[in-house]
Amino acid sequence: MTSQVSQKQIDKAARKTALNLQALMAEVDEGFNAHVRCIVCNEQYRHHIDTKPCVDDDNPKQIIRKNRWRGTRIVK
Ligand SMILES: [Zn+2]
Repeated sequence: MTSQVSQKQIDKAARKTALNLQALMAEVDEGFNAHVRCIVCNEQYRHHIDTKPCVDDDNPKQIIRKNRWRGTRIVK
C-alpha cells in the first residue's frame, strides 16, 4: 500500500514549517529581528501589532506604523 502525497501537500507542510521557524526565531531574538521582513506579509516585524511575524498565511496580523508626528496608525 502506497500513500500518495501530492506536491501541494508537501508545499503546504514546508510552508507551515517555515512559518513556525520564523515565529520561533522571532521569539528567541526579540528586538534583534525588528528589521527582518515577515515571509507572510513582507512587512518588518516591528510593524506588526505585537512586533512578531505572522504565523498563518490565511490570517496575517495587523500592520501598524509609528510616526513621530502623527502617532500610530493602522496600515493593513
Ligand atoms: Zn507579517
